[in-house]
Amino acid sequence: MRTWLLAAVLFAAPLVPGAQAQTDAEIVARAHTIHDRILTIDTHVDIPANFGSDGYDMMKPVRGQQVHLPTMIEGGLDAPFFIVFVGQGERNTWGYAKALSDAFVKFAAIHKMADVTNHDKIEIALSAADARRIYASGKKVAFIGVENGYPIGKDIRLLDQFQAFGARYFGLVHNGHNDLADSAQPNVRTNEPAAEHNGLSPLGKDVVRRLNALGVMVDVSHSSAKSTLDIAATSAAPIIASHSGVKAVFDHPRNLTDEGLLAIKKTGGVAQIVAFDSYLRAVPAEKTEAIAALGREFGAGRPDEIAKLPADKLAAYDKKMAEIELKWPRASVKDLVDQIDYAVKMAGIETVGIASDFNGGGGITGWNGAAETFNVTLELVRRGYTEEQIAKIWGGNLLRVMERVEQHAARGKARK
Ligand SMILES: [Zn+2]
Repeated sequence: MRTWLLAAVLFAAPLVPGAQAQTDAEIVARAHTIHDRILTIDTHVDIPANFGSDGYDMMKPVRGQQVHLPTMIEGGLDAPFFIVFVGQGERNTWGYAKALSDAFVKFAAIHKMADVTNHDKIEIALSAADARRIYASGKKVAFIGVENGYPIGKDIRLLDQFQAFGARYFGLVHNGHNDLADSAQPNVRTNEPAAEHNGLSPLGKDVVRRLNALGVMVDVSHSSAKSTLDIAATSAAPIIASHSGVKAVFDHPRNLTDEGLLAIKKTGGVAQIVAFDSYLRAVPAEKTEAIAALGREFGAGRPDEIAKLPADKLAAYDKKMAEIELKWPRASVKDLVDQIDYAVKMAGIETVGIASDFNGGGGITGWNGAAETFNVTLELVRRGYTEEQIAKIWGGNLLRVMERVEQHAARGKARK
C-alpha cells in the first residue's frame, strides 16, 4: 500500500524538472499561435438589409453590424457562411413568388460583395478544396448557406438553381412550419399546432434526396426534434446543424436533444454550437421586458425599425440599450464552451463545430463581433483542447462533411 502511494506521488510530480503549470500569459500566447495557424469557419452569419446596396461597404464597420472584412482580419475569422434567409410567410403563390425574389436578391448581394466589390480580399468557395485554396492564398473565404426552404415553395427544381448560385447548405425550415418540415418553433401568432407533418413531409424527403444528389449539405437547425431525426434517417450523406445549442445544457426548443446530436453523428455530420444568448442560458424576464419597453418608448422594436431612427434618436436608443446590456449581461464565451464541452463528450470531437449567428441575433459577452473571434479559441485552450482538436472544431469537421457530401454527389453522377 505504501509503495503504491509513493509511486502515485512520484508520478504526479512534473516529469521534467521546472515544467510547471503554464502561466496565463503563456496560455494566451499559445492560443494566439493556434488561432493564427488554423482555418476558422463560422457557419452562420446573416447579411444586413442593405448588404447589396451601393451604400453598403464591407470595409467599413458600422453600428449594429458584427462582421466586416477589417474585423474578420482583426479577429482571425477566416470563412463565414453568409446566409440567404427568408422569413416564413404565406404559403400561396404570392408568398412563394415574393420569397423566391427575396432569396435571389440575397444571392446577388453576397456575390456582389465577394465577386465585384471586394474580389481582391474575399472569394466565394464552392467546395472544401476551394476553401483551402482561397485560405492558402491569403484571402478570406465566403460560403453561402440557405436558411428556410420556403422560397422554393413546392418546386423542387429550384434547388438546382440555388446550388448553381453557390448554396452549399440548405436548412429546410425556420420559425413556423412550411411545406417541407415541422419547425422547432411553430408560429404562435397563427396558432400553429406543435406538429403539422409529424416531422419531414413527403416533399421534404424529396428535397433531402435532391440536396444529396446536388452535393448540398442538409441543415437541421430550426427543424423540430422529429424533423431532425427524419432528416438524419433520410439523408444518404452527412448532415449538419448550422447553428444550434444543446438541450441537455439548456432546455430551449431550438437546442438539439441528445438523440438529435447522436443522429447527426451517425450520419458522419457536425453540430455547430451557436453563440446565441437565449439558447445558452435563461434570459432574465426583467431584461426581456426592459428591451420591449425601450422599443415602445422609441416606437421601434424590430432591428430594421430601429436602424431607421434619426441619428439623435438612434444614439439615445443605443445608450439606453447599452445600460440594459450592462445591467443584465449576455451569456459568456464560457457558456458557449460549456455547450461545446457537452457536445464533445456526448458525440465526440468529430461532431462539433462553431457558429455565431452574427447579424441575426447572435453575439455574446466576449464574442460579439468578428473582431473578438480569438476569445473562443482562448477559452478552448484554457479547457485543455489540443491544437488538433481546436482545428477540427473550428472548421476541420465542417470541411470533412462538405467533402463527403461532394463525394456522395459525384458518385451518384458517375453512376448515371
Ligand atoms: Zn437561425
